[in-house]
Amino acid sequence: MIIIDGKKVSAEVKEQVAKETKELIKKGVTPGLAVILVGDDPASKVYVNNKKKACELVGFKSYEYKLPAETTQEELLSLVEELNNRKEINGILCQLPLPKGLDENAVIEAISPEKDVDAFHKQNVGRIMIGDYDFLPCTPAGIMEMLKAYDISVEGKDCVVIGRSNIVGKPMSMLLLHQNGTVTICHSRTKNLKEVTKRADILVAAVGIPKFVTADMVKDGAVVIDVGMDRDENGKLCGDVDFENVKDKCSYITPVPGGVGPMTIATLMKNTLKAAKLQNNL
Ligand code: NAP
Repeated sequence: MIIIDGKKVSAEVKEQVAKETKELIKKGVTPGLAVILVGDDPASKVYVNNKKKACELVGFKSYEYKLPAETTQEELLSLVEELNNRKEINGILCQLPLPKGLDENAVIEAISPEKDVDAFHKQNVGRIMIGDYDFLPCTPAGIMEMLKAYDISVEGKDCVVIGRSNIVGKPMSMLLLHQNGTVTICHSRTKNLKEVTKRADILVAAVGIPKFVTADMVKDGAVVIDVGMDRDENGKLCGDVDFENVKDKCSYITPVPGGVGPMTIATLMKNTLKAAKLQNNL
């Protein structure tokens, strides 16, 4: 059993981004990422802070917009509009979830598709569907990068994704399909979930329930990817997979923390670099 080291792979990706950023800066372009945080959700604050640190590490400029929870839809949309029009800002992301009363879809659609480095805009989602895209969503793309780094081939494999969110489950399934996996998507109405997950050569858990995937749901020798960022009964960060009991059945497994999470941020850096290049015709 090999524990996939997301920290190591993400450090390599960021190193490459930093190298390319240096070259870009020589040409007069410093990639800029704007991050909008509305309200004071503690987990969102941590994510935003990590994104800011990654920007500093690779040589980007980061622009942080912390707005109070009472921010109106109009105020938020007008900030997005302003950022869309600023040349020094190449990527815009609005940390989700938004406080109640704000329309996430409207905000996502307001971000210019060229600056949509999360790849959540419907134009970008559609382009992913047909396999002609500039940006891929950070978490699924980070997972694909991690599989590649460990020479784990998807072609012809039975891939099972638990979860069908627009952010993780659905795009993850699409990227596995692009790599010629045979993909099954499971969700809360799936019958006999265990029977389905037990067929998986590659099992991706994106459920949001701590230690949801137990050893009896996993085939011997499977590759298990844990997207979850949950809290256990003691408030400690854990994943959707019961790591201690599942790990010995796997050929590869990602830990939480130190697996998918760092890859998500590294991919965000890759996307922002690409946005800066595209917007400057470089
Ligand atoms: P989400 O929008 O809440 O989606 C959860 C999915 O799990 C839904 O499709 C739901 O099915 C399914 N589900 C819930 N209960 C189930 C059950 N008993 N059996 C089978 N399926 C079930 O969550 P998300 O945004 O995709 O995030 C999933 C997890 O990944 C969370 O822990 C989140 O914090 C984490 N995450 C991590 C990163 C990272 O960078 N590491 C990034 C994003 C998210 P229905 O559709 O039928 O309701």
